[in-house]
Amino acid sequence: MAGNHTLMLIKPNAVKNGFAQNIFLEVHDAGFKILAQKKLQLSKNEAEAFYYVHEGKPFFNSLVEFMTSGPIYAAVLEKENAVAEWRKLMGATDPAKAEEGTIRKKYAESMEHNAVHGSDSDENALNEIFFYFSAREIVNAGGDIYQIHNIVKK
Ligand code: GDP
Repeated sequence: MAGNHTLMLIKPNAVKNGFAQNIFLEVHDAGFKILAQKKLQLSKNEAEAFYYVHEGKPFFNSLVEFMTSGPIYAAVLEKENAVAEWRKLMGATDPAKAEEGTIRKKYAESMEHNAVHGSDSDENALNEIFFYFSAREIVNAGGDIYQIHNIVKK
C-alpha cells in the first residue's frame, strides 16, 4: 500500500521569481495538506548530502551550486498516494517534456532549474522528510509521526 506523505522543495529559481505562493496554492487546490513548511538556505554540505545519489554525475556540482544559490521552501505534503500524486502534479524532470498544467511546465526554466523537487519513493520520502524536519516540528505542526513512519512498513 502506498504511503500518504512526500517531501516538496520549491527551488531557488522559483522562490527568486516570486512563484512560491502560487505553487503552494496549486498544491493546496490539488488536495494536498501542507503538514509543515519552512524557508531555508542549504549549505554546500547539506546540498551534497541531499543529492548524494547523483554524486559523480556531470551535473552534480552545478546542481549543488544552484540549490545553494538562494532560499528554498521545504514542505511535508499529505495526501493518499502522495509520492505519485505529487510527481504527477510536478511534471517531468525536463520541463520540455512536462505535461501542460504541471508545475514544472509553468514555472521551470530548464532541466536543472526545474522549480520543484518531489520524493521518488515512499522510502526516500521518509528519509527526505526527516532530512529537513525534526519529529518535534512535524508533531507541533499537527502531523502524526507514527503515520509518517508507517509508510515504509506497509
Ligand atoms: P527529479 O526526481 O525529477 O527531481 O529528478 P532526478 O532525481 O533525476 O534529478 C534531481 C535533480 O537534478 C533534477 O530535479 C534536476 O534539478 C537535476 N538534474 C537531473 N538531471 C539533470 C541533467 O541531466 N542535467 C542537469 N543540468 N540537471 C539535471
